[in-house]
Amino acid sequence: MLRSLPKRVISSARTQLFINNQWVNSKSRQTFKTINPYTEEVIAEVQQSNEADVDIAVKAARTAFDKGPWRRMSGKERGNLILKLSDLIADNFSPLSTLEIIDSGKPIKDVTTIDLPFSIDFYKYYAGLANNIRGKTIPITGPYTCYTRYEPVGVCAQIIPWNYPLMMQCWKMAPALAAGCTLVLKPAEQTPLTALKLGELIIQAGFPEGVINILPGYGDVGRALTLHPGVDKVAFTGSTEVGCEVMRNSGTKGLKRISLECGGKSPHIIFDDCDMECAVACAHFGVFGNMGQSCIAGTRVYVHEKIYDQFIENSVYMARARLLGDPMDIRTHHGPQVDQTQMEKILGYIEKGKSEGAKLVTGGNRWGNKGYFVEPTIFTDVKDEMTIAKEEIFGPVMSILKFKDINEVISRANNSKYGLGAGVQTMDIEKALKVTNAMKAGTVYVNCYDYQTENTPFGGYKQSGFGRELGEDGLYQYLECKTVIIKNSADTL
Ligand code: NAD
Repeated sequence: MLRSLPKRVISSARTQLFINNQWVNSKSRQTFKTINPYTEEVIAEVQQSNEADVDIAVKAARTAFDKGPWRRMSGKERGNLILKLSDLIADNFSPLSTLEIIDSGKPIKDVTTIDLPFSIDFYKYYAGLANNIRGKTIPITGPYTCYTRYEPVGVCAQIIPWNYPLMMQCWKMAPALAAGCTLVLKPAEQTPLTALKLGELIIQAGFPEGVINILPGYGDVGRALTLHPGVDKVAFTGSTEVGCEVMRNSGTKGLKRISLECGGKSPHIIFDDCDMECAVACAHFGVFGNMGQSCIAGTRVYVHEKIYDQFIENSVYMARARLLGDPMDIRTHHGPQVDQTQMEKILGYIEKGKSEGAKLVTGGNRWGNKGYFVEPTIFTDVKDEMTIAKEEIFGPVMSILKFKDINEVISRANNSKYGLGAGVQTMDIEKALKVTNAMKAGTVYVNCYDYQTENTPFGGYKQSGFGRELGEDGLYQYLECKTVIIKNSADTL
């Protein structure tokens, strides 16, 4: 059904800035192209925001926070609006799915079973939490009454990447709205279309003017947001390199609150007592899911020496069975990378792997000559010090490393600047617990990989960032805790 939609959907795509519930052109009137990574054709020319637009959008969000009806709404009323937005996303399932597929190259099967359903669920979950924000009563020495109350942080700048455009948008927006914040969101320049489409639904849902503002554009827009004095908090997902800059800039004119979700190079440890079928499948989806464009991808696969050869044989079989092709085709497992730059970067890492002595056992090339495809690629005999074992490739490249002993593998797995995720495959609960407790990572999966839901906190240790998204922890990133201490007369004791 979706195959017949693209033309109609493209012609209805939004390409302007969304400020104060209105569609406006950028002050510069400049535009940028968004490209379909499967056809390499331009989908649309999108208005390119600049610093002047940032100023207008931040002021709109500021006014909405300080003076608008939003602050006077109860948690229940905010929750109802968020719930309405969730329902509208469900009503617009087909056009949103289509836009997501053509803008990002994600296969339809993933978009319609993961990205859209999860986005709907995230909003529903935070709609419920909006009316459930509670402080504590604290017993205190002396004639005093003490309690805490949670208040919204204020105006939030939210900067998101291209790997899960719609889902990243709701990971950011849903908790901020539930908390009562207002926001300016900057989608990635590669994938602005679903973020902008949501503007229509925001108006339909009935959000007051200025609560949500969306600025398509490049990194300079994100930078201007991090520097703007009217912004109280910056929430960023993207590379560690840019994350460092976000952190620096957010501290130049006062102290903004920040949360950062950056890169990863997650280890996945396969013990010889694992369920082999499960381990191979988890490792496969942990690397090749979303064409390897996942921050938590389990790209360092440590396999026990006793099952090393068998694991490789099964993994190569699965990688070769992966169906590459048209993302709009329901049979497709694997679409193109998001753009030419990413494709070339990944192919560069593959060359590096070969030149540093890793053994290429499958894949390794661009697939076809139209669309930014990279073959699912597996390297074996990878050593810890090789570039492909250390750096985030953000593409479909699995590095398989051999190990002998549990203590050795724990130490090697933790020997990374990143700490987003980790996985362990074993049927021995003692081993699983030892590894989960030892891993310096925000999420550890046992006999599964890359599974999370709206209520499971997500975030990193070390250079993978700080702060948590999703769950109640995600909500508290957008709240300030105020302690109230009231002096009573001694008689009230
Ligand atoms: P990026 O960090 O360059 O961009 C992420 C977002 O930040 C985009 O919206 C971008 O426009 C914006 N941005 C860029 N420069 C900025 C600045 N100075 N200040 C504020 N915002 C700025 O990531 P990318 O170019 O999309 O991808 C590069 C690498 O980042 C990838 O190869 C991958 O390693 C990593 N990445 C990680 C994730 C993740 O979820 N952890 C997602 C996407 C990319």
